[in-house]
Amino acid sequence: MSNKLVLVLNCGSSSLKFAVINANNGDEVISGLAECFNLPDARIKWNVSGKKDAIHLPANSAHSEAITYIVEEIIKKEVGLAEQLIAVGHRIVHGGEHFTQSVIVDKQVLAELKQCSSLAPLHNPAAILGIKAAQEAFSTLPQVVVFDTAFHQTMPEKAFMYALPSHLYKEKGIRRYGMHGTSHLFVSREAAKALNKPLAETNVITAHLGNGGSITAVKGGKSVDTSMGMTPLAGIVMGTRCGDLDPSIIEYLITREDYTLETVMDMLQKQSGLLGISGISSDFRDVANAAAEGHKNANLAIDMFCYRLAKYIAAYTVPLGRVDALIFTGGIGENSDLVREKVLNLLTIFGYQIDEAKNKATKLGKQGIITQENSPIAMVIPTNEEWVIAEDAAALVSA
Ligand code: ADP
Repeated sequence: MSNKLVLVLNCGSSSLKFAVINANNGDEVISGLAECFNLPDARIKWNVSGKKDAIHLPANSAHSEAITYIVEEIIKKEVGLAEQLIAVGHRIVHGGEHFTQSVIVDKQVLAELKQCSSLAPLHNPAAILGIKAAQEAFSTLPQVVVFDTAFHQTMPEKAFMYALPSHLYKEKGIRRYGMHGTSHLFVSREAAKALNKPLAETNVITAHLGNGGSITAVKGGKSVDTSMGMTPLAGIVMGTRCGDLDPSIIEYLITREDYTLETVMDMLQKQSGLLGISGISSDFRDVANAAAEGHKNANLAIDMFCYRLAKYIAAYTVPLGRVDALIFTGGIGENSDLVREKVLNLLTIFGYQIDEAKNKATKLGKQGIITQENSPIAMVIPTNEEWVIAEDAAALVSA
């Protein structure tokens, strides 16, 4: 089978992750990160076939300068690589209701993407900058957009509607959209393979636990409910985000305390979650280390993280009826035996019994079942969002 190489771009407002992926098998030929955009310290670090390198970009560089460097100085310097690229795949955080699957970019798609920007004001405009820069750098290559929200467009109304006056949905598009779709899709597909069942007959609960996190109920390969909402702020406890919250707290802080809307929102997004509760860090490893040394609030942060997670998992047995497997993924899900053990111990009512040895051994990219033989299945499946983006791009280009 010939290589199907896709340049995958994931543009944030101040950084850009990039990779060249073989869509046939997920192999990563190049991966890297450009960061500190619009600052004196703008830079790129990357890895080609295991060899690491890094440079400083001119001060205040941003998406366009970074993509020009990636194309001219990294990709084109690898003999024959640029010629093998068949597409550029862009990760887009929010596709609203308009985008239910990945598409090749044309003028109309760009216009519709701009319309979705109000739903993801930090992310979508950055992705559009990335698309334009990639179009200039690779004028002949098709550009494909792959959405975090698209996988969740199969949710029924009862799951995606908020209990608000319904005109807010009809006129303003206010509803649950969900995120991390490529990850939930990837691990639910891999779970069906591992269980040796057809995807259409496989029901799983997928827990994507990274810096952000979300839980999804996947029935026969389709998302039927998910914990993130209209934006990525809702759901479980995250690194710096609060997750679910009584909205009256916002009003209380603004009207009775000395907060502005801006300071409250900044707190909910950047100073809450593991960081806010522990007062130590948003990084799970730091919080776990402090907890192990007896730090009270670090222990509380981990307990709250696991408790809310377990409650979401329990809730998602409702739309699924039968659960074939519970899947842990993302940096925390793939590596923290502590979180997995605490969560499964909170779910013993469903019969979960952890296999301690397997749980401890399954980390650092390993896939496997972590429960005992007579227990319902919980397993770890490392995610690969870039591969999904490359696959979708390759499939659209071939079609
Ligand atoms: P992102 O959402 O940025 O892609 P990741 O999926 O890389 O994030 O997950 C980052 C989280 O994973 C951090 O909280 C980090 O502490 C945690 N993590 C990474 N490795 C480990 C580990 N060995 N044990 C526990 N947590 C880990």
